[in-house]
Amino acid sequence: MAGTPPGEEQTMRSSALPDEAEARAALVLSLRRQGVGARDVLSAIERVPRRLFLPARHHSLAYEDVTLPIECGQTVSSPSLVAFTAQALDVSPEHALLEIGTGSGYQSAVLAHLTERVETVDRFATLADLARRRFAALKLDNVTARQGDGFEGLKQKGPFDRIVVTAAIPSVPDNWVQQLKPGGILIAPVGQSMQPQSLIRFVKTESVMTAETLMPVRTVMLQPGVAQRL
Ligand code: SAH
Repeated sequence: MAGTPPGEEQTMRSSALPDEAEARAALVLSLRRQGVGARDVLSAIERVPRRLFLPARHHSLAYEDVTLPIECGQTVSSPSLVAFTAQALDVSPEHALLEIGTGSGYQSAVLAHLTERVETVDRFATLADLARRRFAALKLDNVTARQGDGFEGLKQKGPFDRIVVTAAIPSVPDNWVQQLKPGGILIAPVGQSMQPQSLIRFVKTESVMTAETLMPVRTVMLQPGVAQRL
């Protein structure tokens, strides 16, 4: 944003700037045109200042529908991917939701407007810390970020009504299936590195997981284990 000093302090400041509110409203309009119809999702997108989740050098692009680089060499998903995913998750206010791959925390913050409890894990301690500070700045007290290996899920806080994964996996680990309630929904990008992947919605029935392809995606693979540095 022109004329604003760079730095973390600026990132943390609340964002009631009128041009920012306009930019967010324009983003919501564009998501509606792209087919996002769920009002609660659009309202959540409108309420979350994405700028707060970005390094200062990318503030001017905060409300463009693009993927952007964040700390630890990771990326924040595009608002349309966040919105389509949130819509397909069919979240209700009483749901407990687990997000695997916190990244900036932006998607977690959007989801925290849709449901009672969001738990999010990232393999980088730095990303979990930054996300926690952002949630505190926004007074979002129903979302908790922690460092952890997403392949393990988060057994101590489960089972979950919804699980959403933000990095790709070749197949769904058993831990996630076990931590999902019957009737629960899991959305994850499935595929191999450097190849086209599919965003898949799984529904846990009595005996099997049914799978439905939502859209093609291209994202980084979920990496094994917690990061030793950062
Ligand atoms: N939804 C995020 C984007 C996340 S990008 C946002 O809104 O910003 C994918 C994230 O998955 C990265 O932050 C990466 O560190 C994390 N990740 C990769 N492997 C992981 C693992 N095994 N456990 C937890 N997080 C992991």
